[in-house]
Amino acid sequence: MMLDKPLLIAGSWRAPSGSRTGDVVDPATGTVIGKLGFSEAADVDAALEAARKGFVTWRAMTALERSRILHRAAALVRERAEVMAQHMTREQGKPLAEARGEAGTAPEHIEWYAEEGRRAYGRVIPSRIPGARQIVVKEPVGPVAAFSPWNFPLAQLVRKIAGALAAGCSIIAKPPEEAPSACIELAKCFQEAGLPEGVLNILFGVPAEISERLIASPVIRKVSFTGSVPVGKHLGALAGAQAKRATMELGGHAPFIVCDDVDLDAIVKLGVGLKFRNAGQVCASPTRFYVQDAVYDGFRAAFTEAAKAVKVGAGAAEGTQMGPLANARRLDALQDFVADAVQHGARLETGGRRIGNEGFFFEPTVLSDVPDSARIMRDEPFGPVAALVRVGSVDEAIERSNALPFGLAAFAFTRSTRRAAQFADGLESGMVSINHFGLAAAETPFGGIKDSGYGSEGGTEGLEAYLSTKFVSQVGA
Ligand code: NAD
Repeated sequence: MMLDKPLLIAGSWRAPSGSRTGDVVDPATGTVIGKLGFSEAADVDAALEAARKGFVTWRAMTALERSRILHRAAALVRERAEVMAQHMTREQGKPLAEARGEAGTAPEHIEWYAEEGRRAYGRVIPSRIPGARQIVVKEPVGPVAAFSPWNFPLAQLVRKIAGALAAGCSIIAKPPEEAPSACIELAKCFQEAGLPEGVLNILFGVPAEISERLIASPVIRKVSFTGSVPVGKHLGALAGAQAKRATMELGGHAPFIVCDDVDLDAIVKLGVGLKFRNAGQVCASPTRFYVQDAVYDGFRAAFTEAAKAVKVGAGAAEGTQMGPLANARRLDALQDFVADAVQHGARLETGGRRIGNEGFFFEPTVLSDVPDSARIMRDEPFGPVAALVRVGSVDEAIERSNALPFGLAAFAFTRSTRRAAQFADGLESGMVSINHFGLAAAETPFGGIKDSGYGSEGGTEGLEAYLSTKFVSQVGA
């Protein structure tokens, strides 16, 4: 696979102006399957100029015209979903069923924004000044710089592109170098749908080089990043130094609270599904399982059995439930998390090791009785490791859930409406899902608080993130 013309600048697919490339690796085998051309500073500058001009064209079009183009793009993405799913499985490793699910929902995000962009209403304020007309108008914030990660190559990128375009912004996106092909296909769908040139631009390269150049440019008015907390804080500081708007969707360390009044079988099934989905490389993945005393032993036994039964294999193989990790550095990171937890007194119920020596496979892993001193209780493992902890009361579960600086997603399970309300009110988290998994639909806001970031993607909040507010006060001439 030669990814030698991967840059979309001013409406055409181009080779980078230099000769640098990065390897695209199949995580199921560890072999290099493609060479991706990397941008130079001149390419970044060309994209900035294209986005500047593209914004002028795009903002002048009506919301209805923009909506029609987005709807056409959604239809093309739906037609090509299978191709994109195959790309994601080959380059990122997730099971084909998960990749198909991700590609299947991508058009829904575009359609949501296509409609929502037509409803960027302002308002009329009853004025205290006689004869004055006072109105609030929503306007596109301007050209956007967006950085999306490898764990959900399509889902993370599509929200940024569709949100920005629906609001009337142009965008320069830097999708993940590790999994570029589905992202390129996605951008082609927008192009073929009739997007004017320069409205959507795509760059790949050394992330820090591109982000620093884009954020420093006066052309860019908004930054959107999904990725790790340290990188998010760095980019947020760069944006802040320039007084630029930013949305930061960063890491999480989700608690999964199981009360003593629940049906364990159903919750174990849901918990195992959530934990090992995408091999745990999900920002909203549950990591700390706080289980009430009376059901702790039963939960531990059933969860461990279910984890042992998860079928690990190449994403493209029939029946695979969990694929490899996305890259070799995650293998070392996970091995360290497990060793550290055991050293601090946790019990290894199952897993804990790399599988074989080809590709980046890691066993579904369950640790029990994990003390707070273990590193996995503080740092995001971003992998297939569950940490089980015994708790007494609901109050204790909430207090321990809130003890970390993260606040992205939280899950809680109870039959009591009183306890459910306690969780809804008490958990410090951008998203709280009670008695089911209810996150990440196009019409609902997705985002965190505390170190997990600020701003939301999805829902009406996702459009608002790309709009600025103008107040107009006018009296007759
Ligand atoms: P990393 O911190 O090196 O990179 C995370 C992402 O940020 C990657 O997509 C990378 O390309 C990008 N990035 C890194 N430096 C950048 C810069 N200066 N400018 C712009 N983009 C930059 O970590 P990693 O090893 O690739 O991934 C593991 C960690 O990343 C995990 O611990 C997890 O917290 C985080 N992560 C989070 C999400 C999420 O959905 N919130 C997704 C992927 C990774």
